[in-house]
Amino acid sequence: TNSMLSGLPTTIFSVMSALAAEHGAINLGQGFPDTEGPVDLVEAAAAALRDGRNQYPPLTGVPELRRAVARSNARFYGISVDPNREVVVTCGATEAITASLMALVNRGDEVVVFEPLYDTYLPVLEMLGAVVRTVRLAPPHWDLPRATLAAAFSPRTKAVLLNTPMNPTGKVFTRDELEFIAGLLARHDAYAVCDEVYEHLTFAPVRHQPLMALPGMRERTIRIGSAGKSFSMTGWKVGYVTAPAPLADLVAKAHQLLTFTVAPNLQRAVALGLDKDTAYFERLAEGMRSARDWLAEGLVRAGFDVLPCDGSYFLIADITPLGFRGGDVAFCQQMVRDGGVAAIPVSAFYDPRGQNIPDSYVRFAFCKKTGVIASAIQRLQTVR
Ligand code: PMP
Ligand code: GLN
Repeated sequence: TNSMLSGLPTTIFSVMSALAAEHGAINLGQGFPDTEGPVDLVEAAAAALRDGRNQYPPLTGVPELRRAVARSNARFYGISVDPNREVVVTCGATEAITASLMALVNRGDEVVVFEPLYDTYLPVLEMLGAVVRTVRLAPPHWDLPRATLAAAFSPRTKAVLLNTPMNPTGKVFTRDELEFIAGLLARHDAYAVCDEVYEHLTFAPVRHQPLMALPGMRERTIRIGSAGKSFSMTGWKVGYVTAPAPLADLVAKAHQLLTFTVAPNLQRAVALGLDKDTAYFERLAEGMRSARDWLAEGLVRAGFDVLPCDGSYFLIADITPLGFRGGDVAFCQQMVRDGGVAAIPVSAFYDPRGQNIPDSYVRFAFCKKTGVIASAIQRLQTVR
């Protein structure tokens, strides 16, 4: 039957992971770590399963986790949060994004997004009947085009959807850029939905700064985190929303319709995770930074140009110096088939109806063991 979802392609991440499996390729496509997250969290989740609290937890999340989310906001960013009224636990950041947009956006409202963009943003906004204003960032530095952004705002702007640290670019928005966005939000009385799943994955000296912590933004911002990224367990799908109480109420209503609750044992384990000492989060970022360097150096040796990356799981490489002319999609198909390495064509992060979509960029995930990255590089050398 014809549906508003009929035209939606299967996500590029599943497509490339399936191709990687089919061709026995090393999968540097879909972003998931190839090591387990902290053992104590696994043990805590297992213990919680056995202790007989396996029925529906509270709608907005188990109290232990909501309190831990509040403490984490205070510890890392100085944001003070009421765990009873300002936190909602969701099935991953994916649900948090959809629920936040459901909470804010009415049919016909304008929403500003930045391109390249994560793959769930556009289809969800379209289902909600939003009018999408896309602001394109330009490689290699992906700096905020301030005049273009200012021009994308109008009296009908309801919200901006911001992802920092940013997938797929590895960009971390600077304080200056965030202040510029904050100024526009205040002037237009608009809100921000901040997808900050990679908040703990930034590489020194760059640090993540939440828009929510800027003056005047506390009441306008919905901030989203993910245990998948902060504890290297992407399959757990535990996300958390921090928002001012009136918005958190609406997000909770959307969550009530979408999934209602999240597995209680995982929530309780994630609460322990969020309370881990700061050294844990520093080690996580430091390990990821060295994986980034390892991959970047290898890609350069294999003939790619490598773009700067200050955070996330991902590095973008330019294939132009390789002399391949068929575009990023064909390149990725050939690389997975003949080169034994899977990556994601960056054009998949653009609105397909747009003009002049860049097609010489490929995204590689470095959230992998160094040996795996080294083998991938070796394969890429041989192909050349
Ligand atoms: N937003 C971004 C930018 C992501 O890269 C991802 C996923 N990896 C998500 C949201 C989804 O996070 P989750 O797995 O917690 O749903
Ligand atoms: N966020 C992950 C990525 O960008 C994948 C998530 C998914 O497969 N939907 O690779």
